[in-house]
Amino acid sequence: MRSYIPNYQLTTARSLADVLSLLANEPGVWRPFAGGTDLMVLLEAGKLDHRNYVNIWPLAELRGIEVSKAHVTLGALTTYTDVQAHEVLRSEFPMLCQAASETGGLAIQNRGTLGGNIVNASPAADSPPALLAYDAEIELVSTQGSRWLPYQGFHTGYKQMLMRPDELLTRIRLPRHTTGASHYYRKVGTRKAQAISKVCLAAAGRTNNGRIEDVRIVLGSVAPIVVRCTQTENALRGQQPDAATTKSAQASLLREISPIDDIRSTANYRLQVASNLLADFVRTLNS
Ligand SMILES: Cc1cc2nc3c(=O)[nH]c(=O)nc-3n(C[C@H](O)[C@H](O)[C@H](O)COP(=O)(O)OP(=O)(O)OC[C@H]3O[C@@H](n4cnc5c(N)ncnc54)[C@H](O)[C@@H]3O)c2cc1C
Repeated sequence: MRSYIPNYQLTTARSLADVLSLLANEPGVWRPFAGGTDLMVLLEAGKLDHRNYVNIWPLAELRGIEVSKAHVTLGALTTYTDVQAHEVLRSEFPMLCQAASETGGLAIQNRGTLGGNIVNASPAADSPPALLAYDAEIELVSTQGSRWLPYQGFHTGYKQMLMRPDELLTRIRLPRHTTGASHYYRKVGTRKAQAISKVCLAAAGRTNNGRIEDVRIVLGSVAPIVVRCTQTENALRGQQPDAATTKSAQASLLREISPIDDIRSTANYRLQVASNLLADFVRTLNS
């Protein structure tokens, strides 16, 4: 079925196979339209350059949250409302649930999808920091087959990613290794709701015999892509969560991120807030 807005074409897919053959037969011509919450804003603003979209919203193959012994696997069309309602996600992946609860308002949470948030590739998006901190993997599917890749490294530059035009993001997989971890998620924006972040920190870690281990630090809105701060993690790993460790980790963090001045904030404010949030996270490892 095809429907038309002047100058744009939206076709609705009947099955995953339909979408994949459309993407494969006319490479680069068609793009997926999921919840439409990013695309419709661009359309309204007259900034939607691409013209042909395939509506994937009705596809049951891209929905559902499956729990196995080792993983929780989420369909690309999982909405923020679905995330918040899921018991295992709430108990084992609280940062993802918090990110979902702080994304837009209820209407956006009902319609916006994790797949759309990832592929829209905004460095200020709220779920990617949590997904990276949880070592997410993503599945890309085309008529050639399926491939799983670590989410880390998927975004290669501003709005650049390792996905071919014939591929669809179908699933997101989270390894269930979070038991006993401290989870810290803070989105700093102009106000509590309906704000784009100035800085967002997602961090997880634990202490064993007083030493920090299994630590992951991810920051949003401080670089062209969401950044996993591995040098800062190295500065924390094996150390006691004390003032000296915090100071050296903060120095490392400031070297790893490169925020800019923009309409929402300044580079200096972002550096200061990122550093403060890191110190706050390290304090949680003490308690
Ligand atoms: C009022 C408002 C408030 C918002 N607040 C926030 C917020 O607080 N935090 C935040 O992070 N975002 C926010 N957003 C942005 C948006 O809601 C999210 O990025 C959302 O997750 C996008 O999902 P979607 O399904 O609507 O994507 P769509 O608009 O359908 O698509 C976005 C992009 O992803 C591509 N795409 C979608 N699904 C797939 C797939 N499965 N495979 C391949 N490509 C795909 C599309 O082709 C398009 O390029 C807000 C938007 C609005 C309008």
